[in-house]
Amino acid sequence: MTIDLALRELIRISNVTGKDTALVQGGGGNTSAKTADGRFMYIKASGTALKDMSPQRGWRRMELKGVLAMLGDAELGRMETFARENEIVRRLMLACKDEMPAGIRPSVEAHFHAMLGRYVIHLHPLAVGAYVNAKGGRKQIEKLFQGEKYPPLWVPYTDPGYQLAQKMKRLIGAYQEEHGRKPALVFLEKHGLIVSAETAEASLRLVRKVIADLAASDYPADFIIMNPQDWAN
Ligand SMILES: [Zn+2]
Repeated sequence: MTIDLALRELIRISNVTGKDTALVQGGGGNTSAKTADGRFMYIKASGTALKDMSPQRGWRRMELKGVLAMLGDAELGRMETFARENEIVRRLMLACKDEMPAGIRPSVEAHFHAMLGRYVIHLHPLAVGAYVNAKGGRKQIEKLFQGEKYPPLWVPYTDPGYQLAQKMKRLIGAYQEEHGRKPALVFLEKHGLIVSAETAEASLRLVRKVIADLAASDYPADFIIMNPQDWAN
Protein backbone atom coordinates (compact mmCIF):
# COMPACT_ATOMS: atom_id res chain seq x y z
CA MET A 1 0.00 0.00 0.00
CA THR A 2 1.42 3.38 -1.00
CA ILE A 3 0.64 6.05 1.50
CA ASP A 4 1.21 9.78 1.43
CA LEU A 5 4.42 10.99 3.06
CA ALA A 6 2.42 13.22 5.41
CA LEU A 7 0.42 10.22 6.64
CA ARG A 8 3.53 8.08 7.03
CA GLU A 9 5.17 10.84 9.07
CA LEU A 10 2.00 11.39 11.11
CA ILE A 11 1.96 7.71 12.09
CA ARG A 12 5.62 7.94 13.04
CA ILE A 13 5.30 11.02 15.25
CA SER A 14 2.15 9.61 16.83
CA ASN A 15 3.68 6.22 17.63
CA VAL A 16 6.96 7.66 18.92
CA THR A 17 5.14 10.23 21.07
CA GLY A 18 2.51 7.77 22.29
CA LYS A 19 5.13 5.32 23.52
CA ASP A 20 7.05 7.97 25.46
CA THR A 21 5.56 8.05 28.94
CA ALA A 22 7.12 11.44 29.74
CA LEU A 23 5.04 12.88 26.93
CA VAL A 24 1.68 11.17 27.31
CA GLN A 25 1.48 10.61 31.04
CA GLY A 26 -1.26 12.97 32.12
CA GLY A 27 -3.55 11.97 29.28
CA GLY A 28 -3.22 11.44 25.53
CA GLY A 29 -3.18 14.17 22.96
CA ASN A 30 -3.42 14.45 19.22
CA THR A 31 -1.25 14.96 16.16
CA SER A 32 -1.58 16.12 12.58
CA ALA A 33 0.41 16.50 9.36
CA LYS A 34 -0.41 18.61 6.30
CA THR A 35 0.21 17.46 2.74
CA ALA A 36 2.92 19.16 0.64
CA ASP A 37 0.30 20.88 -1.56
CA GLY A 38 -1.33 22.45 1.51
CA ARG A 39 -4.72 20.99 0.64
CA PHE A 40 -5.17 18.28 3.22
CA MET A 41 -4.39 17.57 6.83
CA TYR A 42 -4.10 14.08 8.23
CA ILE A 43 -5.19 14.12 11.85
CA LYS A 44 -5.55 11.64 14.67
CA ALA A 45 -9.05 10.22 15.02
CA SER A 46 -10.69 10.60 18.41
CA GLY A 47 -10.88 7.36 20.37
CA THR A 48 -7.56 5.90 19.19
CA ALA A 49 -4.41 6.15 21.29
CA LEU A 50 -1.41 7.77 19.63
CA LYS A 51 0.64 4.59 19.95
CA ASP A 52 -2.05 2.57 18.16
CA MET A 53 -2.29 4.66 15.02
CA SER A 54 -1.46 2.64 11.88
CA PRO A 55 -1.89 2.97 8.10
CA GLN A 56 -5.26 1.26 8.54
CA ARG A 57 -6.67 3.06 11.54
CA GLY A 58 -6.66 5.96 13.94
CA TRP A 59 -6.64 8.93 11.54
CA ARG A 60 -8.74 10.95 9.11
CA ARG A 61 -7.78 13.08 6.14
CA MET A 62 -9.45 16.49 6.13
CA GLU A 63 -9.70 19.25 3.58
CA LEU A 64 -8.07 22.25 5.25
CA LYS A 65 -10.30 24.75 3.48
CA GLY A 66 -13.40 23.27 5.10
CA VAL A 67 -11.86 23.22 8.57
CA LEU A 68 -10.64 26.82 8.40
CA ALA A 69 -13.85 28.15 6.85
CA MET A 70 -15.76 27.36 10.04
CA LEU A 71 -13.72 29.91 11.97
CA GLY A 72 -14.91 32.75 9.79
CA ASP A 73 -18.55 31.66 9.92
CA ALA A 74 -20.63 34.26 11.78
CA GLU A 75 -23.62 31.91 11.89
CA LEU A 76 -21.67 29.46 14.08
CA GLY A 77 -20.66 32.31 16.35
CA ARG A 78 -24.30 33.14 17.01
CA MET A 79 -25.40 29.60 17.83
CA GLU A 80 -26.02 28.41 21.39
CA THR A 81 -23.06 26.36 22.70
CA PHE A 82 -24.52 22.86 22.67
CA ALA A 83 -26.09 23.19 19.22
CA ARG A 84 -22.91 24.77 17.92
CA GLU A 85 -20.60 22.02 19.13
CA ASN A 86 -22.88 19.44 17.46
CA GLU A 87 -22.88 21.42 14.25
CA ILE A 88 -19.09 21.66 14.39
CA VAL A 89 -18.71 17.91 14.74
CA ARG A 90 -21.04 17.49 11.75
CA ARG A 91 -19.01 19.91 9.64
CA LEU A 92 -15.72 18.37 10.72
CA MET A 93 -17.04 15.03 9.48
CA LEU A 94 -18.05 16.69 6.19
CA ALA A 95 -14.50 18.02 5.81
CA CYS A 96 -13.13 14.45 5.94
CA LYS A 97 -12.08 13.26 2.50
CA ASP A 98 -10.85 9.69 2.72
CA GLU A 99 -11.95 6.08 2.57
CA MET A 100 -12.20 5.59 6.31
CA PRO A 101 -15.41 4.24 7.90
CA ALA A 102 -17.86 7.13 8.25
CA GLY A 103 -18.39 6.80 12.02
CA ILE A 104 -14.79 7.64 12.88
CA ARG A 105 -14.43 11.21 14.08
CA PRO A 106 -11.42 13.42 13.58
CA SER A 107 -10.11 15.10 16.72
CA VAL A 108 -12.40 17.91 17.87
CA GLU A 109 -9.25 19.98 18.24
CA ALA A 110 -8.82 19.97 14.45
CA HIS A 111 -9.18 23.75 14.19
CA PHE A 112 -6.02 24.71 15.98
CA HIS A 113 -4.12 21.99 14.14
CA ALA A 114 -5.27 23.54 10.87
CA MET A 115 -3.96 26.98 11.89
CA LEU A 116 -0.44 25.92 12.84
CA GLY A 117 2.67 24.65 11.02
CA ARG A 118 2.97 21.51 8.94
CA TYR A 119 3.50 18.93 11.69
CA VAL A 120 1.62 19.47 14.93
CA ILE A 121 1.89 17.58 18.22
CA HIS A 122 -0.58 18.46 20.98
CA LEU A 123 -0.16 16.85 24.41
CA HIS A 124 -1.22 17.19 28.03
CA PRO A 125 1.96 15.98 29.81
CA LEU A 126 2.35 16.28 33.57
CA ALA A 127 5.51 18.37 33.15
CA VAL A 128 3.46 20.94 31.21
CA GLY A 129 0.47 20.68 33.54
CA ALA A 130 2.67 21.81 36.39
CA TYR A 131 3.11 25.17 34.65
CA VAL A 132 -0.14 25.75 32.80
CA ASN A 133 -2.16 25.01 35.95
CA ALA A 134 -0.13 27.29 38.20
CA LYS A 135 -0.79 30.96 38.87
CA GLY A 136 2.85 31.79 38.32
CA GLY A 137 3.15 29.40 35.37
CA ARG A 138 3.03 31.96 32.60
CA LYS A 139 5.81 34.09 34.11
CA GLN A 140 7.96 31.08 34.69
CA ILE A 141 7.53 29.83 31.14
CA GLU A 142 8.39 33.27 29.78
CA LYS A 143 11.54 33.30 31.89
CA LEU A 144 12.49 29.79 30.87
CA PHE A 145 12.21 30.53 27.15
CA GLN A 146 13.39 34.13 27.18
CA GLY A 147 16.55 33.26 25.23
CA GLU A 148 14.57 31.87 22.30
CA LYS A 149 14.40 33.94 19.14
CA TYR A 150 10.71 33.16 18.80
CA PRO A 151 8.98 33.08 22.18
CA PRO A 152 6.21 30.62 22.99
CA LEU A 153 2.63 31.81 22.63
CA TRP A 154 0.59 31.71 25.84
CA VAL A 155 -3.15 31.18 25.43
CA PRO A 156 -5.24 32.24 28.46
CA TYR A 157 -7.88 29.75 29.52
CA THR A 158 -10.94 29.46 27.27
CA ASP A 159 -13.54 26.71 27.02
CA PRO A 160 -12.24 24.03 24.65
CA GLY A 161 -13.80 23.74 21.21
CA TYR A 162 -14.98 26.65 19.11
CA GLN A 163 -14.22 29.38 21.68
CA LEU A 164 -10.65 28.21 22.03
CA ALA A 165 -10.23 27.98 18.25
CA GLN A 166 -11.49 31.56 17.82
CA LYS A 167 -9.22 32.90 20.51
CA MET A 168 -6.26 31.07 19.01
CA LYS A 169 -7.03 32.45 15.57
CA ARG A 170 -6.73 35.99 16.99
CA LEU A 171 -3.62 35.26 19.04
CA ILE A 172 -1.81 33.41 16.25
CA GLY A 173 -2.64 36.27 13.88
CA ALA A 174 -1.16 38.80 16.32
CA TYR A 175 1.91 36.60 16.85
CA GLN A 176 2.46 36.43 13.09
CA GLU A 177 2.20 40.21 12.79
CA GLU A 178 4.82 40.63 15.47
CA HIS A 179 7.24 37.84 14.60
CA GLY A 180 6.63 37.20 10.91
CA ARG A 181 5.89 33.51 11.49
CA LYS A 182 3.55 31.18 13.31
CA PRO A 183 4.49 30.14 16.85
CA ALA A 184 6.37 26.84 17.12
CA LEU A 185 5.40 26.52 20.78
CA VAL A 186 1.99 27.19 22.27
CA PHE A 187 1.05 26.81 25.94
CA LEU A 188 -2.67 26.52 26.65
CA GLU A 189 -3.56 27.65 30.15
CA LYS A 190 -5.10 24.83 32.25
CA HIS A 191 -4.80 22.52 29.25
CA GLY A 192 -1.50 21.59 27.62
CA LEU A 193 1.14 22.10 24.98
CA ILE A 194 1.16 22.42 21.20
CA VAL A 195 4.36 22.11 19.20
CA SER A 196 4.59 22.61 15.47
CA ALA A 197 7.39 22.42 12.92
CA GLU A 198 7.97 22.07 9.19
CA THR A 199 9.32 18.51 9.44
CA ALA A 200 8.27 15.52 11.50
CA GLU A 201 11.77 15.17 12.92
CA ALA A 202 11.87 18.82 14.01
CA SER A 203 8.49 18.48 15.73
CA LEU A 204 9.72 15.45 17.70
CA ARG A 205 12.97 17.18 18.59
CA LEU A 206 11.14 20.25 19.80
CA VAL A 207 8.59 18.41 21.92
CA ARG A 208 11.34 16.43 23.66
CA LYS A 209 13.40 19.54 24.26
CA VAL A 210 10.48 21.44 25.77
CA ILE A 211 9.55 18.61 28.12
CA ALA A 212 13.18 18.16 29.17
CA ASP A 213 13.59 21.91 29.80
CA LEU A 214 10.40 22.07 31.85
CA ALA A 215 11.19 18.94 33.83
CA ALA A 216 14.71 20.19 34.62
CA SER A 217 13.51 23.50 36.02
CA ASP A 218 11.75 24.16 39.31
CA TYR A 219 8.00 23.77 39.05
CA PRO A 220 5.90 26.74 40.13
CA ALA A 221 5.19 26.39 43.84
CA ASP A 222 1.42 26.50 43.47
CA PHE A 223 0.95 23.91 40.76
CA ILE A 224 -1.96 21.51 40.84
CA ILE A 225 -2.33 18.29 38.92
CA MET A 226 -5.00 18.59 36.26
CA ASN A 227 -7.54 15.93 35.62
CA PRO A 228 -6.58 14.16 32.38
CA GLN A 229 -10.21 13.22 31.78
CA ASP A 230 -10.96 16.86 31.15
CA TRP A 231 -9.31 16.86 27.77
CA ALA A 232 -10.47 15.42 24.52
CA ASN A 233 -7.95 13.48 22.55
ZN1 LIG B 1 -6.14 19.02 24.30
